[in-house]
Amino acid sequence: MRNINAYSENCFEFHLNQVKRKQFKANDPAYKSRLDTLSPRIDLSYQEYTRLISEGSFELIPKSDFSSQEKKDLLSLYRYDTKPIQDLHILLTTINNRKFNTCQMCSIDPIGSFDHIVPKEEFPEFSVNPFNLFPCCLSCNQTKGKRWLEKDRRLFYNLYYDTLPDIEFLKINFNSYPIPEFSIDKTAIPSEFYRLTLSHYTKLNLFQRFKESSHEVIDSLVSSANAIIPMIGIEEYRKTVKKSSDEMRALYGHNHWKSLLQVAIVNHEGFENLLVT
Ligand SMILES: [Zn+2]
Repeated sequence: MRNINAYSENCFEFHLNQVKRKQFKANDPAYKSRLDTLSPRIDLSYQEYTRLISEGSFELIPKSDFSSQEKKDLLSLYRYDTKPIQDLHILLTTINNRKFNTCQMCSIDPIGSFDHIVPKEEFPEFSVNPFNLFPCCLSCNQTKGKRWLEKDRRLFYNLYYDTLPDIEFLKINFNSYPIPEFSIDKTAIPSEFYRLTLSHYTKLNLFQRFKESSHEVIDSLVSSANAIIPMIGIEEYRKTVKKSSDEMRALYGHNHWKSLLQVAIVNHEGFENLLVT
């Protein structure tokens, strides 16, 4: 997983544009004026959101007290399949002219939704705040659900603002090679970051999901090894896997599970037993 750049334009303008796009409703003629009336409050909320992020105290974001009608109106601004939200998706997942299609909350599945970093049910004012929308896969989005805080501490990374360190902390062990067991190396990272990391990985079931997806990585390695090793030998093959793993980690972060798994698989003493002889 890797950090992605947060929206660089004015978030409140994005909200106002969503309001502007709403059509007059004959069966609810006051709908648009209710949204307009809320705008000054939303502006202040957005300013507070931005301030708390910049101070690193995002978990202190105050609970809102909108009426049920106001909440319903604010939630109506968000629909994943509308053009502005899809355009936002494209903007946020294009990095250096390269489109990222894989969810960075897990690095497993394709992006197919926006996670509301603070849940929109609890904070309807941020239902279309681009700072609060993180592109992610359906699995991460559903697994995370409305959770974000427990005992005043965040449960998940905010990959716009929690800068991932250039340190390898994802460990792989084999109790029964080649089936991998993933864990976090507590000694590699500061304790508060370890707490958040462990929470993110366990609450999204990442260790289990990596394990369940590992057969694809192993099958493709074995297939390429069977084709290439007869020509260059196993040691040269290991070097090419290491090189491509390093390139992937430069792109997808130091703890990109697939890259680390590839190196762990080919360097294991049991690797040759997986090959066609
Ligand atoms: Zn995901």
